[in-house]
Amino acid sequence: MTKAEEDIARSREMIARYCRKKHKVKDGLCPECQATFEYVAAHRMRCPYGDDKPACGKCKHSCYSPAMRGKMKAVMLANLPQMLLHPVKTMRKMSGRKQP
Ligand SMILES: [Zn+2]
Repeated sequence: MTKAEEDIARSREMIARYCRKKHKVKDGLCPECQATFEYVAAHRMRCPYGDDKPACGKCKHSCYSPAMRGKMKAVMLANLPQMLLHPVKTMRKMSGRKQP
């Protein structure tokens, strides 16, 4: 797997998590998120920096349109809890709230 393919696979996971949360899609992506993913994947393949590219957030060559940048920011935010919290803690908190 090349670095570009890895990046694309990671983006897909993040968009899928966002889609599950925001659009209640259990499997795969809704058409809107599918379009987002294809946009991201196409841009990653075309990135002028190739495999030496910095993280997109740090990249000076802003290849995303402003609308798509906003969308990706929402995707990042939806993924933030998973990045910060331990998954077991999150599950305990959720089940505790439902059953007092
Ligand atoms: Zn979606």
